[in-house]
Amino acid sequence: MKKKIALIFGVTGQDGSYLSEFLIKKGYMVHGIKRRSSSFNTGRIDHIYQGPFENKRNFFLHYGDVTDAISVSSLIKKIKPTEIYNLAAQSHVGVSFEVPEYTADVSGIGTIRLLDAIKSFNPKIKFYQASTSEIFGNSPDKPYNEKSRFEPVSPYGTAKLYSYWTTVNYRNAYSMFASNGILFNHESPRRGENFISRKTVIGLINILTGKQKCLYVGNLYSKRDWGHAKEFVEAQWKILQNKVPDDFVIATGKNYSVKDLINLVLKKLNIKFAWKKDKKGLEYA
Ligand code: NAP
Repeated sequence: MKKKIALIFGVTGQDGSYLSEFLIKKGYMVHGIKRRSSSFNTGRIDHIYQGPFENKRNFFLHYGDVTDAISVSSLIKKIKPTEIYNLAAQSHVGVSFEVPEYTADVSGIGTIRLLDAIKSFNPKIKFYQASTSEIFGNSPDKPYNEKSRFEPVSPYGTAKLYSYWTTVNYRNAYSMFASNGILFNHESPRRGENFISRKTVIGLINILTGKQKCLYVGNLYSKRDWGHAKEFVEAQWKILQNKVPDDFVIATGKNYSVKDLINLVLKKLNIKFAWKKDKKGLEYA
């Protein structure tokens, strides 16, 4: 049987690296798109890199960028994938307030560049869009499911909502197999270091080893549903193996606060602590 070919935009990110490993194990030929960068950006996939002279290669990297329609469409034409995973994004909510137009371009319009290239070249290619629980934002319909209203509250959330609806529209208008995975937070040792999970672990280890004095965080009582990225990429694959294209919420169903996370890391590191409040009411441990 002919091997399935996966094309991953965002291969150098947390999910892209786990998804590549997963698909290689499943017997896929995996092609990943990396951006040109002045410093190395392949740290998460270096362990699966295969050089051009290796025999029986099943992992290939190409330069490309979802802000560049020419590269997107020529890559799809050249690689002829059976499945495309669009994980490429400016994925940081806080940063999206600093670079809103860029976030809209990458995390929003990038998706229509991919979908339109698929429509023109081969509408039978299956398409996965990395949507996010951030599209629910302030929606009152808790607990959220696929029918909940969307009320995003950040440039990242609005860009991703554009991608969500674009995916739905291409599915309906052109009968394409295009699905959204509306994923809640998922973490791992490969998560970007400016996200709260990694920031907490790295910050507290640095305090323990005397490299850092304090770890400052925002709202201690902000709650998140945190899963593991390795399990969530399997859900991404399963979404494309479903008989029909559709949209799916992926979550663990359990919420923990930032304070719970900090408590857990402090315990794991055997650091004795007690929470106190300063004169302004700010909590510290
Ligand atoms: P990530 O680690 O930030 O990875 C994002 C990937 O997109 C990186 O490979 C990045 O390349 C690439 N990228 C950024 N701009 C690009 C561009 N213009 N053209 C091509 N590639 C570009 O994110 P992640 O945690 O793996 O998440 C994967 C996807 O799921 C993202 O779309 C994210 O928004 C979404 N999502 C994530 C979560 C979560 O909790 N992790 C939850 C819901 C949805 P560089 O390595 O060069 O920066």
